[in-house]
Order: sequence, then C-alpha cells, then structure tokens
Amino acid sequence: MSTGVAAAAQAEVRFPPPRLWIGNEWVEPEGGSVFVTENPATEEPLCPVAAAGAGDVDRAVQAARAALGGAWGETSPRERGRLLWRLADLVESHIDELALLETLDNGKPIFESRYVDVPGAIEALRYYAGWADKVTGRTLPVEGPFVLAYTLRQPVGVVAAITPWNFPLIQTVWKIAPALACGNAVVHKPASYTPLTALRLAEMAAAAGFPPGALNVVPGSGSAAGTALVAHPQVAKVSFTGSTEVGRTILRGAAETIKRITLELGGKSPNIVFADADLDAAAKGAYTGIFYGKGEVCAAGSRLFVEETVHAELMEKLLARTRRLVPGDPRDPRTRLGALVSRTQRDSVLHYIEEGKREGARVAWGGEAVSIDGKGWFLQPTLLDGVHNDMVVAQEEIFGPVLAVIPFTRVDEVVELANASIYGLAAGVWTRDVGKAHDVARRLQAGTVWINQYNWYDSAAPFGGFKQSGFGRELGREALDAYTEVKSVYVGR
Ligand code: NAP
Ligand code: MG
Repeated sequence: MSTGVAAAAQAEVRFPPPRLWIGNEWVEPEGGSVFVTENPATEEPLCPVAAAGAGDVDRAVQAARAALGGAWGETSPRERGRLLWRLADLVESHIDELALLETLDNGKPIFESRYVDVPGAIEALRYYAGWADKVTGRTLPVEGPFVLAYTLRQPVGVVAAITPWNFPLIQTVWKIAPALACGNAVVHKPASYTPLTALRLAEMAAAAGFPPGALNVVPGSGSAAGTALVAHPQVAKVSFTGSTEVGRTILRGAAETIKRITLELGGKSPNIVFADADLDAAAKGAYTGIFYGKGEVCAAGSRLFVEETVHAELMEKLLARTRRLVPGDPRDPRTRLGALVSRTQRDSVLHYIEEGKREGARVAWGGEAVSIDGKGWFLQPTLLDGVHNDMVVAQEEIFGPVLAVIPFTRVDEVVELANASIYGLAAGVWTRDVGKAHDVARRLQAGTVWINQYNWYDSAAPFGGFKQSGFGRELGREALDAYTEVKSVYVGR
C-alpha cells in the first residue's frame, strides 16, 4: 500500500450515505431531511448528508442508553482499550482516504490533513486506549464504624459531543476516545460544514467491534440537532467545542437538566516575542502560529506582541516568509494555505480586515480575497501592523489567516496587554532568558503556554481555556475526569 501525502492526494474516497449512524446502522432520518456539504476550494457539492431532527436525536439517545444497559455496559475496561486500539489501526489503514475526505470537506491542505489531522486522531485513540483500564478510584482514610471507604470512577452515561468544522476528525476523537475509554455511550453531532470524516469514523468503530449504540452520529443543524441534544433529559453530559457565543447558549440550555458540561471555546491568543529571542525561530513560530490551518485554529497566535527594539527586524523576517505563502489547491501536496471553510467565513474575515484598516492598522501584507480558476473561498495571508490591543482586530476572534502585530516595550506591560482579553486559551513566549520565560508563562492567563514553540499539541497534555475560552480540559489524564462521576463507598463493619 503506498501512503504519504502524494498517495493521499490521489486516494479514492468513499462518501457516507445520506443517513444517520444509530445503533451501528445507517438509518433514514425522520422526514428524509438532507443537506449538502461542499468543497470550499471548488464550491462544488460533495454529497448529501442526513439532517437529524429532535425525533432522530431521541432515537440516537435511546440507542446509547440501550448500549449502556446491554453489551457496551458489560464490556470490560481492558476490552474497551482493545477496541479503541483496533479503531486506531483501522483509521491508520485508511489514513490517505480520511486525509483526502477531510481536505475536500474543510479546504485544508492535504499536507496538513495527511501529516497532522489523521495521525493526531490515531495517536489520541491509542493514548486513551492505554488509559481505559487505568481509570481507578482511591481508598480513603475515614473515621467511624467503617472497615474501609473508597471511590469508584464511573461513566457519566450518555454523552453528547458537539464539534466544530476546523479540525473535524481530531476534535471528534478528542471527545469520543476518552468518553468511550471511560465506558460512556456517545451521541455525536458534527459541524454542518464538515460532517464526513466523523461518519466514516463511526462506521470504522463498528468494524473495530464497538457494540451497537456505543457511538452514534447525528449530523444536522445546531439549531435543530444541537439544541435537541442539549435539551434531552437523558443526555447526562455535553462536551462542546465551538464559539463562545454558542457555548453560552449551551450553558443556558443545559441548566434545565443540570448537565455536566465541558466547553472548549474561542481564543485570541497572544504570541510574545522578546528582543532576546532567536528571531528566526520566533518569526517562523509567529508565521505557523497564525497561518497553520488557515488561521481557523482556536489557539491561533493571532496577537503578535513584539518588543519594539526588534519590531522592524522581526517584521522583515515574517514578511519574507509570508510573501512566499500563496493560497493553493488543497489537494496539491505543495499547498500550505488552503481555502477558508465557507463563503460566510471568508466574508467575515474580510470584514475584520476592513475594520482593522478603519481603526488605523496598516496592511503590511495581503488583505485580499483570492480564487483559483474563479472558484473557492481563499484569502491572502494577512499581516496587520501597528495594531493597538484595544482595537476590534485585537479583541475579537477573526478565525482566519490574519495577524495583528502589536509593539510593546516592557515585560509588565506585555503581560498586562496579553491578559487584557475576554479569552484565555493559549499563548506563546519567545526568549532566551529562562527565568523570564517561566515567569511570563506563569503570569499569562491561558490554558496552554508554549515557550519558543507554537501550535504544538500532545495527547498527554491537557488542553482548554481560562476565562471565556471555556472550562474543563480535553486530552491528558484530565479528560478522564470530564467523562466520569466519582462515587464514595463506605464499607461498614
Ligand atoms: P459554532 O458555530 O459554535 O459551532 C460549533 C458546533 O455547535 C457545530 O456543530 C454547530 O452546528 C453547533 N451548534 C451551533 N448552534 C448550536 C446550538 N444552539 N446548540 C447546540 N449546538 C449548536 O462554532 P464553529 O463556527 O463551528 O467553530 C469555530 C469556533 O470554534 C471558533 O470560535 C473557535 O475558536 C472554536 N474552537 C474552539 C476550540 C477549542 O478547543 N477551544 C477548537 C476548535 C474551535 P452547525 O455546524 O450546524 O452550526
Ligand atoms: Mg464541507
């Protein structure tokens, strides 16, 4: 089997049928409702996808409950681990096909989906396969008429996973892998722009041996399928990744039935370059920090704080790289900047660029929409210089390849500016001074801080936000807490 980015670009993709995935079967949605998912690079329809309504969501929840009360509920932790490992193997054997499917649906370069998205998903599946039989309680030193007290960690029950369109497969796995490792049953609603890889993954989970109902997928709109999941009385937990705005709506909706909630929301992450940094490395980090994934990355380093004395030099290095970054066909193995996910998204990013200009930012590079053969939602990589932290382009999440460059002079000043945001997802610090690096990392209000690096994720390291970037953590051992209830058991004499 030939594999690699060139093979992925030529892979044969199999589109899922326009059905919901419930109880390990393709199921017709009530009323036969479908929507069409498109390729944002060509504006062409890819395939019809079933649209779940409230009745469909209920069917999926009932299938998940039946699984918990049946074969899935009786599956041992070690066997759950083996199933996750087998699923990882299956994903690996379809790595080229899944990479291309992700690229067609989302518009991201095949280079990224083949070398980051799908391998990242495989790695996270294996990481949680390893945890499945290591989720343990504690014995407790209680007083009174007891021989013993201990805790059990038990599955929460039916988990609703709601995911965004920017990293469709990875975001799915970050939720379903720990949820299934802990013995929960999942009902997943993927983003409407990018539902395809999640449907293929669910089919593979059945092939790997997961019993019916352990993992169900109900594509459909946020307002119909999403709302129905959040409102459903038999859904015990909602794990959501998406915008802060929808996060607020979900929090309100979940209040009614006191659901457990994990929210991974937006960001406006500061990437801070001190004058004593390796400026070549920092320029590269600033570049990948904003242009990787078309900037449609929750943790994108979208505010670049540069110490004034090296501002000109860093901008020169950044410009040298950015000039060479030309949007291209996402299927071309050489492409490093793909199409934004939709016209709406592209227009929204353009609007922010205009807003930045109006507020007095200088467009140092880019700023224009691009098409390829007259098609696609492409945008030039864009550098906005001379930005102030209180401008709209420094405060609101743009979610595109647009960098706001903000000069600073002192350490205390930059820490204050970096923290002057409603968000707190991630941050970067570039310096050769070890003490300063750790001091600033400690003072930044962010769930992840990268020192002399940016945009790196590892399944072992928890990921999530401070402030309005959300709460709860994905990945790492911490994600296991998000998918278990703790029970204290007292044993009398
Ligand atoms: P979004 O509009 O919030 O949508 C996310 C998901 O929620 C989609 O599946 C969407 O369905 C669904 N949804 C929409 N309204 C809903 C409702 N009322 N009830 C329940 N579900 C609802 O976000 P997006 O535009 O897809 O993604 C971009 C955002 O995600 C950015 O803000 C980004 O920062 C954030 N993000 C955060 C992280 C993180 O880890 N912190 C990671 C990636 C992305 P439809 O697709 O049908 O609208
Ligand atoms: Mg699409």
